[in-house]
Amino acid sequence: MNKLKIGWAGLGNMGSPMALNLIKAGYELIVYNRNREKEKELLLAGATSAADLPNLAAEADIVFTMLADDAAVKSVYNEQDGLLAGAQAGKLLIDMSTVAPETSRYLSKLCADKAVAFLEAPVSGSVQPAREGKLIILAAGAVQDFEKAKPLLDSLGKLTLHLGVAGSGSSAKVAINYLLAINVQALAETVLFAERNGISNADMLTIINEGACGNGIIKLKTPAILANNFPPAFALKYIVKDLKLAKGAGLDSALSNPLLSTFEAAAADGLGDEDLMAVIKYLRN
Ligand code: NAP
Repeated sequence: MNKLKIGWAGLGNMGSPMALNLIKAGYELIVYNRNREKEKELLLAGATSAADLPNLAAEADIVFTMLADDAAVKSVYNEQDGLLAGAQAGKLLIDMSTVAPETSRYLSKLCADKAVAFLEAPVSGSVQPAREGKLIILAAGAVQDFEKAKPLLDSLGKLTLHLGVAGSGSSAKVAINYLLAINVQALAETVLFAERNGISNADMLTIINEGACGNGIIKLKTPAILANNFPPAFALKYIVKDLKLAKGAGLDSALSNPLLSTFEAAAADGLGDEDLMAVIKYLRN
């Protein structure tokens, strides 16, 4: 058993498998999730449950968060009844959620004011890489905090990068998710264009995947398109969030605005909780 005690808040689709990997790597884990039901799997695997967020921060040496969005992270970090109500000077907090670069800078300052160390470490990769410990981790913050966290981050990912000062990790994350959104919408439009001209989805996807246009995300989404079934690995509502974060961070390009409109319309059509590839259902209609 590793000597560090690790805290984890946010046991959703990503947080649960990631936290589980820390237990597998030999760390003592204490967890907190707003909906306590979702703690069960981790408790069965050997984690303990924190009474509340201040206790989580007080009991653990390092606390990870993997939460829905900026509002959730700010609420979990708050100084009244959140992590910063319990974190003593010298603790290290690591936020792995996808949030605005501005939010990461805000959290960094909030922590620094209490002499609490802070790293942002958003991830590229979805639920399967999270399970396999093969995420790409986009960390930013003070180098000595990064060095302290690196063995833990290496248990969660296949590649851990230090990208610079606060905000850099989140900037890289919203950029890569822009490319993800382009790929997914382009794939949907291509398959539907071929479909309207009598080419089956199976044939079109074979042509794409066997040729130079095939890529990792297309291969990953192929089974869902063929089954016309889109259980959320990466919920469509989160790509809407991330495209808005990119826009907020200054992205204003020929592709970015129509992309955001399409995914927003798909979410408004009731597809927000399905996988982002469900945009094909919206476009088909
Ligand atoms: P998820 O399954 O929806 O889980 C969201 C988590 O946030 C849950 O633990 C939820 O708690 C918690 N939460 C939401 N609002 C909260 C609040 N106000 N206070 C406290 N906790 C709150 O999401 P996910 O797919 O794991 O994604 C988590 C983050 O990773 C997001 O920022 C997402 O953009 C990013 N991300 C996701 C993927 C992916 O493929 N899924 C990949 C890379 C990055 P409850 O259970 O109580 O609702």
